[in-house]
Amino acid sequence: MNYLIIGACAAGVSAVKEILKNRKENDQISIFTDENYPFYYRPRLIECLSGEVDVEDIIINDQQWFENNNIDLHLNEKIIEVDGKNKFIKSDNGKYKFDKLLLANGSHCFIPPFFGVELENIFTLRTAADVKVINKAAENAKKAVVVGGGLLGLEIAYNFAKAGLDTTVLEVAPYLLPMQLDKKGGDLLEQKLRANNVKVITDASTKGFEGKQNVEKVILKDREIEADLVLISTGIRSNTSLIEHLDLEINIGVKVNSKMQTSNPDIYAAGDVAEYKGEICGIWPPALAQGRVAGTIMSGGEAEFDGYVPSHKLKVAGINVVSLGELNKEGEYEEEIIVDNDTYVKLIKNNGEKIGVLIVGQYSDQNQILADIKR
Ligand SMILES: Cc1cc2nc3c(=O)[nH]c(=O)nc-3n(C[C@H](O)[C@H](O)[C@H](O)COP(=O)(O)OP(=O)(O)OC[C@H]3O[C@@H](n4cnc5c(N)ncnc54)[C@H](O)[C@@H]3O)c2cc1C
Repeated sequence: MNYLIIGACAAGVSAVKEILKNRKENDQISIFTDENYPFYYRPRLIECLSGEVDVEDIIINDQQWFENNNIDLHLNEKIIEVDGKNKFIKSDNGKYKFDKLLLANGSHCFIPPFFGVELENIFTLRTAADVKVINKAAENAKKAVVVGGGLLGLEIAYNFAKAGLDTTVLEVAPYLLPMQLDKKGGDLLEQKLRANNVKVITDASTKGFEGKQNVEKVILKDREIEADLVLISTGIRSNTSLIEHLDLEINIGVKVNSKMQTSNPDIYAAGDVAEYKGEICGIWPPALAQGRVAGTIMSGGEAEFDGYVPSHKLKVAGINVVSLGELNKEGEYEEEIIVDNDTYVKLIKNNGEKIGVLIVGQYSDQNQILADIKR
């Protein structure tokens, strides 16, 4: 059996680890990545921005591991064609036949239609190579602006500030993390970020960028902000362009069932490229879990992906944030504010029963409340 895997990150490598368990004597396993690094922990790329961690420190399985396990690792090799009918894939280096193919080619950063986005020193962060160029640019930069105040944008801003840059985050919503928090919680988080030297502008509608060669200003609807380094963090999109011509069902990602099978029986998909029940998970733990299922099924075993529950405990720039259960956005339940100074705790109750909680900051009874709500 010839197993080919496109993408050597969470989904691809976790699949390979399952295939290894069921490997028969003549089975060949080849894995391709267009990156220069073997399997590394992508979420920790952010820490590389503060200069405290190197990309080399976050490698999970190095080239030796692939060699020891007799896996053909193709670094720096971009797959440019997939032929589902004749069962081969192609790069500039060659053509490779498969019996089973896994699409684990992930996602890319989405950039809204901002003007001036082609100016120098405007970046997105997705790969180890991105970190290297951002860090090089940061050496001579003073004012960083992060467009997008989601979890990733806040974390990036925190690390820029740690590296000594004068850092501002732009969030289009009226307060931070509107999906997880209410206005009071979002405002307290903003206050805590300011204490960590991160400035926040909410209701910030970014239009584009101006400058001669390098970016010099970020243009918002109602003001301009000086910047010599910009990082855009406004979401991801699945890497479906490689396979758009194939006879596969594609919506926002490649559609898969709970066994990570696409509509072609020999092609599987997992991780950020895969759409399961109408959703792209877009985070590490389900990418690992889906990869494991794909690898097991491809190599003749039994497994099923049964969805994932997003974590309710977040660490945002070192600040404890909890958002669990009913958030009472419609105002239909009772609310009890337990503390609201340096820590904010709001309980949501229905007929006296705890059904949701928001916490920003440290709160000693957190575990008890979480247990009560889960019960
Ligand atoms: C900076 C950052 C921070 C994050 N922080 C968190 C976090 O805190 N918690 C969390 O749960 N998740 C986080 N994520 C998301 C998480 O990293 C992803 O969900 C996860 O990496 C998805 O894994 P994947 O294997 O599906 O795809 P990817 O990690 O995207 O890997 C796909 C690989 O395939 C390669 N590839 C693509 N096309 C081709 C081609 N044509 N030929 C060859 N190779 C190709 C890509 O270059 C890449 O190496 C973060 C992501 C980023 C970028």
